[in-house]
Amino acid sequence: MLGLMQSQPLLISSLIDFAERHHGSGEIVSRRVEGDLHRYTWSDAAKRSRQVAHALDGMNLLFSDRVATLAWNGYRHLELYFGVSGSGRVLHTINPRLHPDQIAWIANHAEDQVLCFDLTFLPLVQAVHARCPMIRQYVALCGPDKLPKDSGVPNLVSYEDWMGSQPTAYDWPSFDENSASSMCYTSGTTGNPKAALYSHRSTILHAYAAALPDVMCLSARDAVLPVVPMFHVNAWGIPYSAALTGCKLVFPGPAMDGKSIYELIETEKVTYAAGVPTVWQMLLGHMKPDNLRFSTLKRTVIGGSACPPAMITAFNDDYGVEVLHAWGMTEMSPLGTLCTLKNKHLGLSPEEKMKVRLKQGRAIYGVDMKVIGDDGNEQPWDGKSYGDLYVKGPWIVREYFKGEGGNPLVDGWFPTGDVATIDADGYMQITDRSKDVIKSGGEWISSIDVENIAVAHPAVAMAACIGMKHPKWDERPIVAVVKKPGAQVTREELLKFYEGKTAKWQIPDDVVFVEAIPLGATGKILKTRLRETLKDYRLPNT
Ligand code: ADP
Repeated sequence: MLGLMQSQPLLISSLIDFAERHHGSGEIVSRRVEGDLHRYTWSDAAKRSRQVAHALDGMNLLFSDRVATLAWNGYRHLELYFGVSGSGRVLHTINPRLHPDQIAWIANHAEDQVLCFDLTFLPLVQAVHARCPMIRQYVALCGPDKLPKDSGVPNLVSYEDWMGSQPTAYDWPSFDENSASSMCYTSGTTGNPKAALYSHRSTILHAYAAALPDVMCLSARDAVLPVVPMFHVNAWGIPYSAALTGCKLVFPGPAMDGKSIYELIETEKVTYAAGVPTVWQMLLGHMKPDNLRFSTLKRTVIGGSACPPAMITAFNDDYGVEVLHAWGMTEMSPLGTLCTLKNKHLGLSPEEKMKVRLKQGRAIYGVDMKVIGDDGNEQPWDGKSYGDLYVKGPWIVREYFKGEGGNPLVDGWFPTGDVATIDADGYMQITDRSKDVIKSGGEWISSIDVENIAVAHPAVAMAACIGMKHPKWDERPIVAVVKKPGAQVTREELLKFYEGKTAKWQIPDDVVFVEAIPLGATGKILKTRLRETLKDYRLPNT
């Protein structure tokens, strides 16, 4: 017997319709490439999304055709999120931090037909357009007055000219909720990038889940600043959850430095911000010298890489801002776990609470997790037994676009490539990427633990731990360190700093001071590149 409830497909267009009807006057503020602050409302965003849909119809783009973006977080990008997917096309957000060769490869692989770009990325477009014959329309995200002359880019039009005169009424089409809505390529640190192809259904389910109190806890009373880019994994789904909850959105545009982010938080009364640790490092670095305070910020979600304990302490103790540690990946839309305390933790000492907060957190309803040990068996949830982390759920990839890489699933589970433990309360903790794990004397050393201790030292700006070949122990950890500007610390002082904070055999064998640590397109440390730089390095006494 089937249930007798109405069956309506879960479509992204319904989010923007809802936003317009129920919180149409809610604000959306964007720092633009032009430098100024633009403000309008959800109602304006909805109208202009419909104009985008008309513009796409006018080009005779078919259902599921791809429309690409190379753009910062801003209102025009938001309109494309809803206008492209809502009208049945697939939004392909391209990460502009990738190499131009990779961008051209991705655009061709995705068969993009339209490319919308912020003017910052004109040089990139100039570098790749000749290699992207399928793109038939280039749209610069600006008004006609700012459209570059003699750019050499064919079929170039300004966004405002392209969509501005279209009708504001539009009947969103209804179709199967399993239809593709957007796509995002993984950074491809191994081999060519592969695309996660999200559906309307997976996006809406993720948007519901992300808004929950123990997840991102978004509400109509929040002013949310997604510093996480809309060009990578849909800014953790915040644009969709924001439309669903009616929070105010504040977009940073290209200005991601500490000063600009701080000013935006203060002037727009931001209560909630989301970003990767490196962004928050810059923000805290800007605030500390002048003893600046937050007047409205209450919570921040930090994910994408392990959040160092020093950052949780700084936000919490120095600024009264709660840190929510999050974990996920492109293949998971991206949210998998979020770290919020349970009732039983509230009475714990600050040190004990910190131990919980450092974990990547509990699975969100919709995500199933398991950890498989070296012997192929599922590990107990005891917080100690580690192994490869597998996940499954309705917003996790089944396969990649065009079947690249074959079937990624093992018995229906997606292998995350992360090594983790899960404790009895269901809190998952990542110890490493499986390829970064350091194997020393038959034991595994977590590079994340080694890095976290180093960055807790006041003179250290950034640290990356890698394993080096050792004749007796197989591998031993060393830590590459970037000092804070003007700060001093010696190798010996830093090694001493580890004492008492971790088991003796987990203390790195050496500290190597470097000018910079290579970061990938999504802000993660590129350990492969670091290993290449240190290829002539030899461990002391070997
Ligand atoms: P890419 O597609 O470039 O791999 P993702 O953004 O999908 O980028 O990265 C996913 C990976 O990032 C995870 O598998 C994990 O290794 C790492 N990661 C994400 N969040 C965290 C976190 N909170 N702690 C530790 N590692 C994290």
